[in-house]
Amino acid sequence: MSELLIKDLQVDIEGKEILKGINLRIPQGEVHAIMGPNATGKSTLAYTIMGHPHYNVERGDILFDGKSILRLLPEERAAEGIFLAFQTPVAIPGVTVANFIRTAINSQRKAQESNAKGIPIIQFRELMLAKMELLQMDPSIGGRYLNDGFSGGEKKRVEILQMAMLQPKMAILDETDSGLDIDALRIVAKGIETLKGPNLGILIITHYQRVLNYLKPDMVHVMVDGQIVESGSSDLALKLEQKGYDWVKEGNGHRQT
Ligand code: ADP
Ligand code: MG
Repeated sequence: MSELLIKDLQVDIEGKEILKGINLRIPQGEVHAIMGPNATGKSTLAYTIMGHPHYNVERGDILFDGKSILRLLPEERAAEGIFLAFQTPVAIPGVTVANFIRTAINSQRKAQESNAKGIPIIQFRELMLAKMELLQMDPSIGGRYLNDGFSGGEKKRVEILQMAMLQPKMAILDETDSGLDIDALRIVAKGIETLKGPNLGILIITHYQRVLNYLKPDMVHVMVDGQIVESGSSDLALKLEQKGYDWVKEGNGHRQT
């Protein structure tokens, strides 16, 4: 079984300390949520796990399946089975959703085995149609240019489609629920819910408790000012919704509830 293990992670951006010693353990099959106010380092954590070059690991380690991934390139981390759904997905006019995903699958196969062949087009189509049906998506979206003129809800659903197609072992979802109306949120959350299972670990970063009603996290962690200040069961998310973050903010260290 895979697990993502983050040990005493300190991350700087342009010389400024953003993450100040994060510890987390997410086994495959579990859903963990990170909540916290704006600008506390949640996206920084997501990008650092994926290996974005802007984020400089000063101290600590990130292990996947017991091996440090710090020296791996983002595409090598993806090939290991780590997936990141972006907070703000970029548009790529000229590249269709289907082609984008097929290219991603093929480069992942190549990274796993250098002489691997690409996924045959018919097999790809079948897989994509099946996943779209599972996620209740209109198949015509496959032929549209990636995120070009997409609504907020469509962008997030396409992120989930990518996740369904790439079948990662560990998915990091950075505010996949932000900017969605209630209906879009329900559809996206249900989509993620369908993909949940013993072979997938999920780290979902969110501001709102709502999405967690669908996803029922095994654990909720609160990040304030680059540190996890509180971890607990899903009740913690409800408490945050009612009381805000202030009650966990002031130097009470890391508590388990
Ligand atoms: P969150 O996702 O919790 O809102 P972020 O991780 O995006 O927070 O940001 C944490 C802090 O790091 C903020 O103060 C932000 O301004 C800063 N930061 C994030 N990315 C960059 C960057 N690429 N360059 C400079 N500062 C950054
Ligand atoms: Mg963010």
